[in-house]
Amino acid sequence: MSLSAAPVTGAIGVRFEDRGFLQVPLEHLLDVCHPGHGDPWGVGPLSLDDLRSGEALCTHRPDDPTGSDRSSADASGPCRSCEIRRVRFLALTGWPDLADDPHPVCIDVGVGDFVPAWPILDGNHRVLAAWLRDDASIGVEIAGDWDRAVALLIDGDLTAWDD
Ligand SMILES: [Zn+2]
Repeated sequence: MSLSAAPVTGAIGVRFEDRGFLQVPLEHLLDVCHPGHGDPWGVGPLSLDDLRSGEALCTHRPDDPTGSDRSSADASGPCRSCEIRRVRFLALTGWPDLADDPHPVCIDVGVGDFVPAWPILDGNHRVLAAWLRDDASIGVEIAGDWDRAVALLIDGDLTAWDD
């Protein structure tokens, strides 16, 4: 039995909010989940000073300014310099607008009793880059309960984790 669906041929009009996108105050997102404190890459905490002026050179493709290809050569586990370089690169260059980004920053707020251990499914570097740039807000895609996401990320209501 084939599990593939029939191809969709008709156009669909997708509203921005129907795609699960929110523009949220960065401050609220960092209260929910801060990649500089939570150490998502296992390289230790990263402060603004680290991101601004910390060591960002290493032997992992130092010619690649994106710092996104550390696995390409002599990978030896987490590399703090690679992560700092990647964040700094994104802060300088930016990233696609939310509606045009095939891989938006994605925040999973869970549903019901399920609370993810780390809510940022994709975009830890971009969240830190936004922090480094002192952005007021950031565009994110939401996974999980929409009302919880709005409460946490728009209203800044951390009690919404318990709802
Ligand atoms: Zn490295």
